[in-house]
Amino acid sequence: MTGTTQDDYTDRYARRVRGMTTSEIRALFAVASRPEVVSLAGGSPYIAALPLDAVGEMLNELGSTHGATSLQYGIGQGTIELREQICEVMALSGIHNASPDDVVVTVGGQQALDLLARLFLDPGDVVLAEGPTYVGALGVLQAAQAQVRHVAMDEAGLIPEALEEAIAANPRAKFLYTIPTFQNPAGVTLTEERRERVLDICEQAGLLVIEDDPYGLLSFEGDAPRPLRARRRDGVFYCSTFSKTFAPGLRVGWVLAPHAVREKLVMMSEANVLCPSAFAQGAVTQYLTTMPWREQIKVYREIYRERRDALLGALTDLMPAGTTWTRPGGGLFVWATLPEGLDSKAMMPRAIAARVAYVPGTGFYADGTGRGNLRLNFSFSAPERLREGVRRLSGVMEQELAM
Ligand code: PMP
Repeated sequence: MTGTTQDDYTDRYARRVRGMTTSEIRALFAVASRPEVVSLAGGSPYIAALPLDAVGEMLNELGSTHGATSLQYGIGQGTIELREQICEVMALSGIHNASPDDVVVTVGGQQALDLLARLFLDPGDVVLAEGPTYVGALGVLQAAQAQVRHVAMDEAGLIPEALEEAIAANPRAKFLYTIPTFQNPAGVTLTEERRERVLDICEQAGLLVIEDDPYGLLSFEGDAPRPLRARRRDGVFYCSTFSKTFAPGLRVGWVLAPHAVREKLVMMSEANVLCPSAFAQGAVTQYLTTMPWREQIKVYREIYRERRDALLGALTDLMPAGTTWTRPGGGLFVWATLPEGLDSKAMMPRAIAARVAYVPGTGFYADGTGRGNLRLNFSFSAPERLREGVRRLSGVMEQELAM
């Protein structure tokens, strides 16, 4: 093919590819990464907070001293050393009953979601998920040709009554996909009481739960409520990642699965990637063995708390009347609701022209809703940049309101 952008392969694509469109985030990345744009759009951790020289030395040694294993193929489930360490990390979140034998190491938390979708979903199957939900999960579910039914949330997370209604309307739903703690994109956390309620409801309905927990350790005010998996062993699949507590570039995540299912997941992963990167796993193992990783999580928490406060302060000071937003107790995101009549998707080109970027709310719903919302990231930019971004955004909103 020549350099044309016309896609001559359309007729040949598999059915699951036909509904695929560029995610809003991907389309935005190119413009949002220009230096003059204040990007509140991404979800990148603040990697400069890591002791990069020490990490570099560690990686060097991993190649020179441990090259025979770190540069070799590994086993599909992931190394036993790392799986044992993952159990230690999960213990920090409150999951004390996990066995390394039930952990499958994945290529980021993203592959964990993909494996579970491949394992459970046939085309047309229904999945329940919070509305809004993680854009990357929507991508996985769309590729699996699943139908997503959103369940409403409020400041206390998923609303149990809305979950009951969704189950009644979709009795054959395959699973609930949920991010109970510091939710992406909404920034809200499911309360203790609701955790029990949600688990009881799912248990009674025989609905599997996929709990996605990349942010649970990034809490700003004491420890987050214990994960769902810490409360129920059966029927809960727990996914997490080192992307937010260490570094996303390594692409190391995991799924903790009920024992009976673990072997199938390993087979799916072998078909998918043979084995997760031995080098990346070795890097995480060395990091957890030789470096103060618990302290580093505290460093991330401190920096993000300061940035959250800066973002919330700027929103309070600068947003037009009628705008509301969530107050996340951890994680990376704030979810804003625009004044009546504003459309976050339509406003985006004007925002980019004003040198500020965000993600329109529509990216986080499977059904095109979310025009009245947007997601703001606070992990990546320094406090004064965040304030400048909010100043530019509120200028654009004032103009839209005056039109
Ligand atoms: N789940 C959620 C809710 C996320 O926000 C992300 C990353 N932004 C992931 C999973 C995947 O992360 P990774 O593949 O980097 O581990």
